[in-house]
Amino acid sequence: MAHGDATVPLLGTQALIRLAARQLAGAMDCPACAAIASAGWQSVPGGFDRKALRRVGTLRRPEDEDPTLREHHPAGTNAWSADAPIAPAFFPYNRCDVWECASCIRTFLRYTEYGGYYEEDRIRPVLAQLVSDGT
Ligand SMILES: [Zn+2]
Repeated sequence: MAHGDATVPLLGTQALIRLAARQLAGAMDCPACAAIASAGWQSVPGGFDRKALRRVGTLRRPEDEDPTLREHHPAGTNAWSADAPIAPAFFPYNRCDVWECASCIRTFLRYTEYGGYYEEDRIRPVLAQLVSDGT
């Protein structure tokens, strides 16, 4: 085990819901995370100050070296839908870390998308009512 690594807890569905359900008064107007607060996945904007976020957990199960690429869309959503379920057992949630805005504690998921010729840092705010255990 490497010393000095910041380790964060593995979070399950219920823990993620609890995090996302916290609300601070005024959070909807938070200037620190306004650029990344729209409901679906997006690329982290180039000018966004990543230090505005802190990592608080992960959805990546350490024992699962090859997490599934299957997605969970029982209601006909797609990966980019603002109302797509947030299902930790499915792609891309199964490779996300959990972050929060240091100012307003809004919860976000973030992972790196590896395309053929690019890497993209993607982020999505967590809405508690969209979190699903996939059943
Ligand atoms: Zn914020």
